[in-house]
Amino acid sequence: MYLPDFDYYMPDSLAEACEALARFGSKAKVLSGGTDIISKMKSGLLSPEILVSLKKLDELTKIEYVAGKGVVIGARATHNDLVNSSLLNEKYLSISEAAHHMAANQIRNIGT
Ligand SMILES: Cc1cc2nc3c(=O)[nH]c(=O)nc-3n(C[C@H](O)[C@H](O)[C@H](O)COP(=O)(O)OP(=O)(O)OC[C@H]3O[C@@H](n4cnc5c(N)ncnc54)[C@H](O)[C@@H]3O)c2cc1C
Repeated sequence: MYLPDFDYYMPDSLAEACEALARFGSKAKVLSGGTDIISKMKSGLLSPEILVSLKKLDELTKIEYVAGKGVVIGARATHNDLVNSSLLNEKYLSISEAAHHMAANQIRNIGT
C-alpha cells in the first residue's frame, strides 16, 4: 500500500487556500489531519493530483461562542480540541463527550 504521487500545497492563509482550491478544482483535495484521506489514497480509493494542506490555518481551529449563532467550531479543530474545550464542557457537554468516544487518542489528536 504505497501512496500515489501527488503535489503538496500548504497555503499561509485562508484566502490563499480558497484561491488554490478554486484554481485547482477537482484535481485537488483538502488535507487536514490526514487520518482518512491518506489511507484512502494508499488503498487506491482516492487519487487527487494535489493536496491542499490546512496545517498553517490556525484561524480554523477556533471553538467560540458567537452571539445569535451559538457555538462555532472551526473546520480544523481536532476531536481532542472538542474534548478539551472549556466552552463545550460548560455549555455543550454532549459534543465534547461524543468526541471523547471517537477513535483512539492518537487519532483524536490529529483528526478534525
Ligand atoms: C483508527 C480510526 C478510528 C476512527 N474511529 C472513529 C469513530 O469512532 N467515530 C467516528 O465518527 N469516526 C472515526 N474515525 C474517522 C475519523 O473521525 C476521521 O478519520 C477524521 O475525523 C478525519 O479528519 P481528518 O482531519 O484526519 O481528515 P482528512 O483525512 O484530512 O480528510 C478527510 C476528508 O475530508 C476532506 N476535508 C478535510 N477537511 C476539510 C475541510 N475543511 N473542508 C473540506 N473538506 C475537508 C478531505 O479532503 C478528505 O476528503 C476513525 C478513523 C480512524 C483512522
